[in-house]
Amino acid sequence: MAEETLTLRGGCQCGAVRYALRVENHDAYYCHCRMCQKAFGNLFGAFFAVPPRDVEWERGGPAYFHSSKIARRGFCRECGTPLTFEYLGAERKMDLTVGSLDEPGRMRPVGHFGAESIVEPFFTDDGLPRSRTEDSEEFVEQWRAAHGTGSVPGPLSDSPGS
Ligand SMILES: [Zn+2]
Ligand SMILES: [Zn+2]
Repeated sequence: MAEETLTLRGGCQCGAVRYALRVENHDAYYCHCRMCQKAFGNLFGAFFAVPPRDVEWERGGPAYFHSSKIARRGFCRECGTPLTFEYLGAERKMDLTVGSLDEPGRMRPVGHFGAESIVEPFFTDDGLPRSRTEDSEEFVEQWRAAHGTGSVPGPLSDSPGS
């Protein structure tokens, strides 16, 4: 099935932040990593990747939390809605949260990332492929370069003393 290029809109819960973007690829993914669990206060995040230049902030803009030394997460400073995940210095790609779209059903999930942290009692296996955080060499390389070679990716609150 050919995918349509659509202009989609979304924003936070209170309406202070609104965005619009052109979407050609409707693929989205679940991330079950501990950092996403903390960031969403939920058991996973759902994201889709877009080139940052395709995103237009039509009202307001995100505030940012630096969830590690290599990434920041955009959210609404008024209501807290999670909006983005971005690697620092990455110009090619950022992720937006599926749930912040006005029509989240336009996207479709294609896989589970961060599978090492899937919380099984709350997870219904849908047969989509799973990948573990440590399987992403690019990510692990970036993480270790920033946090130290022995460091394991995870939320700041999980690494006491660092
Ligand atoms: Zn808001
Ligand atoms: Zn994650």
